[in-house]
Amino acid sequence: MAEPGAMAEQLKAEVRTHTRISGIDPGHKRLWIGEESVIYRDLILAWGAETVRVPIEGDAADCVFPINDLEDYARFRAAAAGKQRVLLLGAGLIGCEFANDLSLGGYEVQLVAPCEQVMPTLLHPAAAAAVQAGLESLGARFHLGPVLTRLQRVADGLEAHLSDGQVIPCDVVVSAIGLRPRIDLAAAAGLQVNRGVVVDRHLKTSHANIYALGDCAEVDGLN
Ligand SMILES: Cc1cc2nc3c(=O)[nH]c(=O)nc-3n(C[C@H](O)[C@H](O)[C@H](O)COP(=O)(O)OP(=O)(O)OC[C@H]3O[C@@H](n4cnc5c(N)ncnc54)[C@H](O)[C@@H]3O)c2cc1C
Repeated sequence: MAEPGAMAEQLKAEVRTHTRISGIDPGHKRLWIGEESVIYRDLILAWGAETVRVPIEGDAADCVFPINDLEDYARFRAAAAGKQRVLLLGAGLIGCEFANDLSLGGYEVQLVAPCEQVMPTLLHPAAAAAVQAGLESLGARFHLGPVLTRLQRVADGLEAHLSDGQVIPCDVVVSAIGLRPRIDLAAAAGLQVNRGVVVDRHLKTSHANIYALGDCAEVDGLN
């Protein structure tokens, strides 16, 4: 969130915004930014993850907003301006957090997820029931079990068709169904990848002087 100039001064570092690494050449300890090559001594990969997208039928697939950064969030807010009914996909930590925040923000929230309870990988069923009850007391409605299969434009918004036959009217859909670590450039450079860029407990990758952390990394044997 810091202003890049102030951050560079504070860290005594060069900060380059809107700059995408396009390749790594571990043999020569250099990376590529398009045509430009940059030599490194140590390289730390922290380039995060992509949002998972599932194929959905219908003419309104562009009304599904995955949110993993501020630009995604800005796009969703622009689409939701003046609208009331939000359908949320996913009942994990992020889906429940959005259910809470959007309900408190005055939106009518319905949540769809193909699981038996909210936050299935994080909470004991009793705790999950308490979280769900708390969100329901704010007005959120839950559809646990089915998935969204089709999203269609209709005269007054959207119609979400679920795999169990339910049809939910809504205005905008937020997808919070998970992330896929960015591994393509690391794999192309010959680094060991699995679900993420594989690192040991010291965040070292399979290549000397290259480290990875955050959402793109996977600690070998621990995840
Ligand atoms: C709504 C929401 C709420 C969350 N709440 C919490 C919370 O309460 N607590 C918590 O611990 N975590 C939370 N998280 C998760 C947390 O935000 C992430 O785990 C964290 O931001 C991951 O950091 P990262 O640096 O790995 O990736 P990111 O923060 O995603 O950063 C990746 C960066 O790499 C850049 N990049 C991508 N490809 C390239 C490339 N080829 N070259 C150069 N740069 C590239 C991207 O533009 C981006 O700037 C939340 C996430 C969301 C979406």
